[in-house]
Amino acid sequence: MTTHVTIIGAGLGGLVLARVLHVHGIPATVYEAEASPDARSQGGMLDIHDYNGQVALREAELMEEFRELILEGRQAMRILAPDGSVLFEQADDGTGGRPEVQRGELRQMLLGSLPAGTVRWGHKVSGARALGEGRHEVTFADGSTLVAGLLVGADGAWSRVRPLLSTAVPEYVGKSVVETYLYDADTRHPAAAEAVGGGSMIAPSPDREIFAHRERGDTLHAYVGLPGPRDRFAAIDFGDSAAATARVAAEFDGWAPELTALITGSDTAPVLRPLYALPSGHRWDRAPGVTLIGDAAHLAPPNGEGANLAMLDGAELGRALAAHRDDAEAALASYEQAMFRRSAEAHDMDSGDHPVHDLIAAFAGREESR
Ligand SMILES: Cc1cc2nc3c(=O)[nH]c(=O)nc-3n(C[C@H](O)[C@H](O)[C@H](O)COP(=O)(O)OP(=O)(O)OC[C@H]3O[C@@H](n4cnc5c(N)ncnc54)[C@H](O)[C@@H]3O)c2cc1C
Repeated sequence: MTTHVTIIGAGLGGLVLARVLHVHGIPATVYEAEASPDARSQGGMLDIHDYNGQVALREAELMEEFRELILEGRQAMRILAPDGSVLFEQADDGTGGRPEVQRGELRQMLLGSLPAGTVRWGHKVSGARALGEGRHEVTFADGSTLVAGLLVGADGAWSRVRPLLSTAVPEYVGKSVVETYLYDADTRHPAAAEAVGGGSMIAPSPDREIFAHRERGDTLHAYVGLPGPRDRFAAIDFGDSAAATARVAAEFDGWAPELTALITGSDTAPVLRPLYALPSGHRWDRAPGVTLIGDAAHLAPPNGEGANLAMLDGAELGRALAAHRDDAEAALASYEQAMFRRSAEAHDMDSGDHPVHDLIAAFAGREESR
């Protein structure tokens, strides 16, 4: 098969696909809306699981490079009660199956593994239409167009490729998170740093939680989860950093100061992220010449699987295209069949709403199953 693969979106899913195709000698181009690799901070740490994300990186022949990015000790886990008392604690003994890396460094590693020119930056897709016989015309925001022989939407939650396959649109899940960062935490925010420990910490309550992890160095990155309709958050002026911080912190009145310090001590303006999801079990009928991977296909409430699944989708699709070089439709059908099943199972996994004892059982079980 010599059909050139056109990938929309240079997130982790699109880049793993491009890399696996490259490993198999299949040409591909990735069109990315962002102007450059550094246009936006990629922020955040990701735990890359041995049952999906790492499987993808092995397929991409990048395990050695990946191991160099792993942040030692970050698989440690603590669960704290709102009063700061420790409910569960697990050290990182180096044998866990979920090593943590910085998302930006992982993306950079993937970019560096592709031939120069594979990613075309500053190419925002505005729409796509079927031309028949599996070909599609892709239109960019600047009005230019291209015709794709095989089109893959890896363009995330608000995919412009998805309407070719499905009328589904993401819906607000009734919860938002507020992101904060505390720099030089060991010296400047020692109580919060101690509460978070060497890896991740979650302080859950029935309807809200503070989750934080220790990124490279002693930066603390927190996700503060709050329930409520979008209107409730629209009423908070996130343009006024001090007022927004006070308003969010007030939601945790009575919580231990070392936990609320993850909000009030932020060195960056708090950022609101409303959470959206596609319907669980989202799928479509096979349409010639086009498919979706990652969030474009199965956006779910954050549950620690999304980036891992996007990478596995990319790897599996690349492998299927390599195995069916003269029959792209067979490749897309076999990829989609497995992806629909896997993403439906993952969609409803723990999304942070479980009672504390379920969380503890989940982490204790992870330890026992090693
Ligand atoms: C708060 C939060 C925390 C999370 N934490 C985790 C975690 O700990 N572990 C985990 O596994 N997952 C996590 N996720 C989920 C994870 O971020 C996503 O599932 C993952 O990034 C999906 O990868 P993707 O490649 O499909 O899409 P994306 O990462 O969204 O990449 C899509 C790319 O397409 C580009 N693009 C978008 N539109 C266009 C267009 N019109 N034209 C061209 N390019 C376009 C974008 O610029 C982007 O580069 C979290 C999500 C959230 C919101």
